[in-house]
Amino acid sequence: MPGADGCQLFLKATLAMSMKVTVWGARGSVPTPGVEYIRYGGDTTCMSLETDDGTLVVLDAGTGLRRFGSELIRKPPRRIAFVLSHAHWDHVIGFPFFKPLYRKGFELDFYGCTHAQASVRAMVEKTMQAPFFPVDLSRVGATLTFHERCGDECMIGDIVVQRFPMSHPNGGCGFRIGYKGRSLIFFPDNEFTFDHQGGRSLAGYVNFCAGCNLLVHDAEYRAEEYAAFSRGWGHSIYTDTVRLGLEAGAERLLLWHINQDRVDDQVDALQTEARAVVLAAGSRMTCDMAAAGMVIEV
Ligand SMILES: [Zn+2]
Ligand SMILES: [Zn+2]
Repeated sequence: MPGADGCQLFLKATLAMSMKVTVWGARGSVPTPGVEYIRYGGDTTCMSLETDDGTLVVLDAGTGLRRFGSELIRKPPRRIAFVLSHAHWDHVIGFPFFKPLYRKGFELDFYGCTHAQASVRAMVEKTMQAPFFPVDLSRVGATLTFHERCGDECMIGDIVVQRFPMSHPNGGCGFRIGYKGRSLIFFPDNEFTFDHQGGRSLAGYVNFCAGCNLLVHDAEYRAEEYAAFSRGWGHSIYTDTVRLGLEAGAERLLLWHINQDRVDDQVDALQTEARAVVLAAGSRMTCDMAAAGMVIEV
C-alpha cells in the first residue's frame, strides 16, 4: 500500500501528464506484415493523443488506425478529431477500416490542409470511392464534420493546432500541437534538404519546432540509400532529422516513417547510430525509433 507520500507523488505525476500519445503505426509507404517486422510493427502512420481533459485526436489515418478503432468500439461512443497531414495512401488507407465510422453515436471531426487535395472531405471520400471500396462514405453510421477552412492555427477543445508546410511531393503539412504549455510536433513525411514546392528551409523547420517536448519526424533513409535512389521522394536521412532535433532543442525525438525493407535488427542498428550522433553532440535529447504500441506522456 502506498503511504501518504506515495499518494502525493502519484497525484503529482498524474497532474504533470497532459497528453498521452500512442503510436499505432510508423512504417513508411506500405504496410509490412511478417515476423521480421514484429518489434517495430508493420502498420503505416497513425498516432493518437488524448489530453487529461478527454479530448481525443488522431494524427493521420494509416493502417495503424484499424487496431485503434477496434479498441475504441469496446467503450461508449465518443467524439474524435482527425488531423491529416496529406493524401498519400499510407496516411489515409486505414480510414475505411476504422470501425467507429460505422457506429451510431461516434462523432468524427476532420481537419487537414486543403492544399494537398481539393478539400478535406474529398481526401477522405476518395479512400472509399467505387470501384476501389464497396461502402460509400454517405452510408456510414457516425456523424461526420469536415472543417474545410483550417487556417494556420485552429483549436480542438483546449488544444492549439498550428500547421506548417512539409517539403514533400504533392504538398501537405506538419503540425505543432500545444496543450497546457506542452508541445508535440508531427512531421511524418518531410524532406527539408530538397526544394519541394511549398517546402521550407532547415531554418524554417528549426524555428517551427523550437523547444518542443516531442518531435516526431521522418527519418526513413541512410545517406547511402538516399544518394543511390531516393533523393526527391520526400523523405529524410536520419542524421539530418537528428540535426533538426538538436538545432530545435527538442526534449525528445521520435524517428518516423521506417523504411519498408528495414527489418527489426536493422531498425535497432539505426537507433543505436542515431543515439551516437546525439551523444557526440553532447546533447541530452532522448532519441528513439518509433514502434507500434509505444505510449509516451508529453
Ligand atoms: Zn508516408
Ligand atoms: Zn507522403
